[in-house]
Amino acid sequence: MKKLIIGGLSSLTLLFGTNSAISTASILEDNATVYDVEQLKLNMQHLIAFKRVNETTLEITNWVPRDLHNLVIVTKNSPKEKILEIDTLSGFSKQTYTIPYLGENATFDYLPQTDVQRKIKGLKTTWNITFPDRLLLEKKVRRADANVVWKPTRPQDVRYYLSFLINAAQSISTPKFHDFWTKTAFYDETCNIEPQYRLTKDEFNNYSKKERRQYKNIRSNCYYNKAHKEYIYNKLLHKTFTVGVTDGGGLGGGSTLGLNQSEVVEHLWDANSLGVKILERGDWFIKKANRKKVESRTPWKIFGHEAGHTLVKKGHQRNYCVNSENSFVSVGFLVYNYLTYKNEMIVTKETMVKRDLDWEGANSKPLRKYKRALKRGANKKRLNALIQKLHRPTARFAYEWGGVYGKHALLLPTKNSPEWYEYLKAHKEGKGLEYLRTLQ
Ligand SMILES: [Zn+2]
Repeated sequence: MKKLIIGGLSSLTLLFGTNSAISTASILEDNATVYDVEQLKLNMQHLIAFKRVNETTLEITNWVPRDLHNLVIVTKNSPKEKILEIDTLSGFSKQTYTIPYLGENATFDYLPQTDVQRKIKGLKTTWNITFPDRLLLEKKVRRADANVVWKPTRPQDVRYYLSFLINAAQSISTPKFHDFWTKTAFYDETCNIEPQYRLTKDEFNNYSKKERRQYKNIRSNCYYNKAHKEYIYNKLLHKTFTVGVTDGGGLGGGSTLGLNQSEVVEHLWDANSLGVKILERGDWFIKKANRKKVESRTPWKIFGHEAGHTLVKKGHQRNYCVNSENSFVSVGFLVYNYLTYKNEMIVTKETMVKRDLDWEGANSKPLRKYKRALKRGANKKRLNALIQKLHRPTARFAYEWGGVYGKHALLLPTKNSPEWYEYLKAHKEGKGLEYLRTLQ
């Protein structure tokens, strides 16, 4: 048995093992269950998560969808002890290691060795992220005033949504984003601004000429000051997001963050050179003439809008959520676009594990066809044929999903069976899950 060297980091030369995982389990595989997804809780500060299983077993989960190399694992407690060096920690995996002795109260960390590890460590966001399944929880699945629907959250969705959210967190954590954010002319159309957060003439006069130009109607008295921007920025850094997959638009408010599936999946890697040029010029705003050219349907656009709703009260009167020349959507977009274009994101096209190329490229086509056919009033047979072609049909109720309901091991009733009708009745009363349990 080797002895641990305790002391300054420079003397930490001793390892217990290299690449000696006793078990490796892939997480978020396509066939993972609803239950696995429902149980998923992670924090942006713990994308590389440690769990002391017992005295000699350490479990490390990599929530980042890319392989990480040359990881140096240390105890967090002082003095730090280097306990493990890992050649490769696979993306989206859980690896278990045997360590001769793990102190009872030991907590663990890694010392960043590579650029990407430093980027992960550098995230300022402390987001708590969950993916509660709206169908299983029997939450209202259709919003009353729009065509936005929740879709089931499958493991493959989580892989793409996490990839985007990690990159979004990276964008928000950059000094550039903070700089752009504090220069943005955030306003409230309703002028309902508390006195301590209202931009005063004195503060305005201290802004640079270029900054002042962005305040188009300074006499309106409806702009926020820098103190408010800082307050909202901090709110953004420390959010809890209950993430969901939607179709037909997004949903945002409180902790709810529903992002349109096609924007997250099909446009995850979209970026353009015009956006890069604007940022390099030092502009934090996108002039009206350029907005259509620059802002395509990237996940940022829907994220900026919906996350904006989680930062300020309902409605579209504030450009913390509304897209305009100067807005959260625009400033964030410029940074997000730049990092994607320059291949500087934590998750990149080349490194993301478990991509589904077919889905990224072609998912939307049958869906659009289906919607068109539906509008034209196509017959049922044809619609069903189209649904079969859909990579991902919209299921609004558990029974539409079919099969065994995750690790709850609830066998769903066959469509149109007496039990199915009973289930529908129970579902309406919010007791669907309860009823399903009686069938088992
Ligand atoms: Zn909105």
